[in-house]
Amino acid sequence: MITSRGYAALSAKAPLAPWTFDRRSLGDRDVKIDIHYSGICHSDIHQAREEWGKAIFPMVPGHEIAGIVSEVGSSVRKFKIGDPIGVGVFVDSCRKCASCNSGDENYCEKNMTATYNDLERDGITPTYGGYANNFVVHEDYAVLIPKNLELSGVAPLLCAGITLYSPMKYWNVNSKSQVAIMGLGGLGHMGLKFAKALGAHVTVLSHSAAKEKDAYRMGADNFLLSTDSEALISFKSTFDLIFNTVSAEHDINIYLNTLKLNGTVVIIGLPGKPFSVNAGILLGARRSMAGSMIGGMKDLQEMIDFCGEKNILSDVEIVEPAYINEAFTRTVASDVRYRFVVDARKF
Ligand code: NAP
Ligand code: ZN
Ligand code: ZN
Repeated sequence: MITSRGYAALSAKAPLAPWTFDRRSLGDRDVKIDIHYSGICHSDIHQAREEWGKAIFPMVPGHEIAGIVSEVGSSVRKFKIGDPIGVGVFVDSCRKCASCNSGDENYCEKNMTATYNDLERDGITPTYGGYANNFVVHEDYAVLIPKNLELSGVAPLLCAGITLYSPMKYWNVNSKSQVAIMGLGGLGHMGLKFAKALGAHVTVLSHSAAKEKDAYRMGADNFLLSTDSEALISFKSTFDLIFNTVSAEHDINIYLNTLKLNGTVVIIGLPGKPFSVNAGILLGARRSMAGSMIGGMKDLQEMIDFCGEKNILSDVEIVEPAYINEAFTRTVASDVRYRFVVDARKF
């Protein structure tokens, strides 16, 4: 076994606290990673607080992992000691179904194995995430990080980055696209950067007036206060695509009207409760409502290589492990610019 030092939630009500635990010894195709940075995703908060239903405790959250390979199993081909690599939201899948065979392991018909708050494929061993000093993963579920990218700004790409990059590819965002990004948080700010890098015209829909300057600095063409209903009316039938990353419950109907004929709202944020949708707004302009969840391993490597070429990184606030609970509170209050990453060498 390999000893890990990290932070865990022992129950949905308890703050996260230091916790030492074991990970498996390296199998032939496994690599050990010394984690340098671990991003704090809003999904970590939803799960640690059981906002998505019953969870597995103790829980070591963290699925935005960037670090350096420190050991390799005897048959590892993809990586060598010293390589910068990353791990995202899942660490295994059935490897046999149509989804797995087409590079959509995130949509595995037998379910992906989540990086934490899940059981390994043996159905018994809990998975523990990246709020820790080290990690063990099968080489097929990790990606090589381009050497020119600084690891702290890379960590959030492993979830926030891929979660916007993958649907932007699927819905073909390009220089003719009118795109709106709802919610300028960890996911939203990556969506803004990717949509601009793909040449789109981008409007940020935010409920935080204080983020306007940052939105323009990151390349937004427009900033619209989502609480300003009059302004929203003036944007009727404007967007081809809305990427909705809002983490809290909200009325989606007022935004649907801003979609053009044949426009699509892609739901990415996952609040605990279902949406109520006015069907008339959808059928009135053949609008669609869709969803998207992270991305497969091929897309993950492609996204990170794209970031290497274009020098795209997340805007991060680097924090110490002892700050994790405060970082959770500030994230829920939409007070993060724009992703917290934990300095994992301090665990
Ligand atoms: P985040 O950093 O907290 O960003 C969420 C943003 O939503 C906030 O910055 C805020 O943006 C907006 N928001 C929050 N509360 C709001 C409210 N009461 N009313 C209106 N807007 C509000 O979270 P994140 O890490 O980006 O994650 C966003 C959501 O996506 C979470 O639900 C997360 O679980 C989910 N997620 C989904 C996937 C997937 O695969 N689909 C992957 C990762 C995460 P403004 O201040 O700009 O309004
Ligand atoms: Zn995430
Ligand atoms: Zn599968």
